[in-house]
Amino acid sequence: MKAAVLVEPGRFELRETARPDPGPGEVMIKVDRAGICGTDIHIFNGRYAAENLPMIPGHEVTGRVDGWGAGVTGFSEGRRVVLDPNIGCGLCYWCLRNEILNCPDMRQIGITMDGGFAEYVAAPARLVIPAPDETPAETLVLAEPLACVVRAARKARATFGQSVAIIGAGPIGNLHAQLMRTIGAAPIIVSDIGADRRDKALACGADIAASPEELPEAVFRATDGRGADIVIESVGRPELYAQALGLMRKGGHLAVFGLADAGESLNIDILRTILEENSLKGSVAGMGPDMRDALTLLVHGRVDASPFTGADYPLSDIQDAFDSLPGRPGDLKTQIVM
Ligand SMILES: [Zn+2]
Ligand SMILES: [Zn+2]
Repeated sequence: MKAAVLVEPGRFELRETARPDPGPGEVMIKVDRAGICGTDIHIFNGRYAAENLPMIPGHEVTGRVDGWGAGVTGFSEGRRVVLDPNIGCGLCYWCLRNEILNCPDMRQIGITMDGGFAEYVAAPARLVIPAPDETPAETLVLAEPLACVVRAARKARATFGQSVAIIGAGPIGNLHAQLMRTIGAAPIIVSDIGADRRDKALACGADIAASPEELPEAVFRATDGRGADIVIESVGRPELYAQALGLMRKGGHLAVFGLADAGESLNIDILRTILEENSLKGSVAGMGPDMRDALTLLVHGRVDASPFTGADYPLSDIQDAFDSLPGRPGDLKTQIVM
């Protein structure tokens, strides 16, 4: 099969590789599309999972069932599916609580092992989730990133009527904005350095889009001077996390979401955190019910995929796709088409 192997940071090689064999309990997916995620960009730049190279990245996968291994039931050939890339042992303390990232045997398709920038990928059947045929593949690619956002919203106990500040209007920040809009959060204030991204944020349901410099004033003005109930850092920069802490209302919640580099830290005022009853919650991957709920939101149009489509590259141009990120003005989410 054709596969894009990241041989070293910054360099893909298109290779003819052996098709994976679906082992017992595994389903083979013939990949239609795979999205490029912030995590993939970190891997490409050598800032994350570098010890796993050479490797085929790609964990935002949709495709069709193309066979399965021993013991798999309930699948049909050609069925459209999406992939939950987080593989836990299924038996440990953490797996039983759906905290799969904490499983000592955790593996992630496309991050710690070969993934979906290839014609085929095999995965445990329980992580291969059937999707309706009527929903376009370019929409289904968003199931995995949306699942991450769904989980963060759950962890933040987001509900209607809450004010939300979102730092970063990239694909993930704008999915956060859409989900918050769907939940009924208000007002939603989004910041980004790019004017085109701020326009995307408004199209994705933000009430206010601001530059990073304008953000504090915008948040306090929109919340009667209190600060936001929920602040979501969706970029991964220490200085933006520091800004995020200052945007929370007393008793507010910071969703620690944007991937920082390993070892980077944040100064937290202990006494203030105690007295104000502030909370911080780390979360970055959707798993278990998060994936299924994300799929439901996409299938029923509660999250609109159209702002995230249109930036397609064929697998053969994957090097170009990564080299030209973040893409043309107006592009939000690059998708690789097999
Ligand atoms: Zn992702
Ligand atoms: Zn486990």
